[in-house]
Amino acid sequence: MKEIGHFINGKHVAGTSGRTSNVYNPATGEVQATLSLASDAEILAAVESAKAAQPKWAATNPQRRARVFFKFVDLLNQNMDELAVLLSSEHGKTVEDSKGDIIRGLEVCEFVCGIPHLSKGEFTEGAGPAIDMYSIRQPVGIGAGITPFNFPGMIPMWMFAPAIACGNAFILKPSERDPSLPIRLAELMIEAGLPAGILNVINGDKSAVDGILTNPDIGAISFVGSTPIARYVYGTAAMNGKRAQCFGGAKNHMIIMPDADLDQAVSALMGAGYGSAGERCMAVSVAVPVGEETANRLIEKLIPQIEALKIGPYTDDKADMGPLITKEAQTRVSGLIDSGVEQGAKLVVDGRNFKLQGYEDGYFVGGCLFDHVKTDMDIYKQEIFGPVLSVVRAKNYEDALDLPMKHEYGNGVAIFTRDGDAARDFASRINIGMIGINVPIPVPLAYHSFGGWKASSFGDLNQHGTDSIKFWTKTKTVTARWPSGIKTGAEFVMPTMK
Ligand code: NAD
Repeated sequence: MKEIGHFINGKHVAGTSGRTSNVYNPATGEVQATLSLASDAEILAAVESAKAAQPKWAATNPQRRARVFFKFVDLLNQNMDELAVLLSSEHGKTVEDSKGDIIRGLEVCEFVCGIPHLSKGEFTEGAGPAIDMYSIRQPVGIGAGITPFNFPGMIPMWMFAPAIACGNAFILKPSERDPSLPIRLAELMIEAGLPAGILNVINGDKSAVDGILTNPDIGAISFVGSTPIARYVYGTAAMNGKRAQCFGGAKNHMIIMPDADLDQAVSALMGAGYGSAGERCMAVSVAVPVGEETANRLIEKLIPQIEALKIGPYTDDKADMGPLITKEAQTRVSGLIDSGVEQGAKLVVDGRNFKLQGYEDGYFVGGCLFDHVKTDMDIYKQEIFGPVLSVVRAKNYEDALDLPMKHEYGNGVAIFTRDGDAARDFASRINIGMIGINVPIPVPLAYHSFGGWKASSFGDLNQHGTDSIKFWTKTKTVTARWPSGIKTGAEFVMPTMK
């Protein structure tokens, strides 16, 4: 049985806690590795190595720091096939989808190759008589990232790339479900020239997270995962005097206006609803057709496509989607589908009894489609995080707009229309962080920033883009007067720029 430990100070180390968890192959239900869960000893070792290495790394000029990322990007591209298979083997998603996961992280590494430019400060000459004022951005020191299972490539890179490029040391606590790719990324960073101690990977559960949140040497916390844990991490980090950005769950709606290209909208819904078995924080889980005719035509076109979904293990390169991550996830999603039926929604495609020959113990759920979903049903209120699309019929544009506006979550939303005026009004009025106009999964590119509103995000600075440079650095502002000195003696009134 493969044993997975931690990666501290540039080396693999076994755990000391004696506590472990299992890493499964979600397609077969078999345990494929045992993961060591960190105790305080591993967290302290990671913090000590980070503390020892960080000052020299921060003093390394930004061009040299950028060169590590140039090389790292090169290594990611060279090893892409192996990395994607490693990711899929623990997550279960298709290998092509895993490549997308890694490439979205790689793009953040490309973005931070611009760190010499991105980290420049501001300067005002002559802010007062013989006075210059300048602001510089200095690294926080040691940052930490706590990441979810669903993007074990992209999300760790969202965090460690800008943090490290800014001159910080970084401690990553990946999901205990699929920890192997994050460790492999840390090995490749060392191969790319990163000094030991600047990127450590600690595996673990709540106890490791609490150890990170209460460690006084860690100055900034980035979290991505479910909303209850995001809320907890945000509050605990703040109580311990740390800056924190915490991203949570989602319920992303897609509004289909009567004038939309319906075939385009249906293709968009198929990919956004069922890709990665719906285990994406930007998955579309609610379709809102406007008008009865749009709804009837939409459902009619969706049914055969959902029934034709090809579901398989990651080793099947023809599969559209794979299994869910764990047995618990499979049970939870099936339970929510049952609740939808009990609460009166119409289950027009039922994937609950899906079985794949040879993979009977895998965590598969077939694609499901609900029609006539109402806002008080659990399948509407909760994030399902499975291959289940709910259709909520809206009478008109205002009713459609009202649905995502009133929902607890505010991660992403999309509108499909040919009407520029409706699209513009929608983008302006909606209270959600990421908007797609005829784009179903509007994940911003690396040089813009990613983040939701409402219960999907806690904290004010987003992932990647220029926000990330602000998050991983502290501003220091210097007011300098040269060369006259203070000839007139002390001043007792509040200084102003005369
Ligand atoms: P999760 O909240 O269960 O776990 C996330 C991380 O928190 C993991 O590293 C886990 O070990 C840790 N954790 C779990 N329980 C904890 C506890 N009680 N105390 C402290 N730490 C704890 O999330 P998940 O199931 O891995 O990921 C799926 C969720 O993540 C979904 O809700 C999804 O929407 C969300 N997500 C959000 C975004 C976003 O950008 N908003 C992106 C990806 C995923």
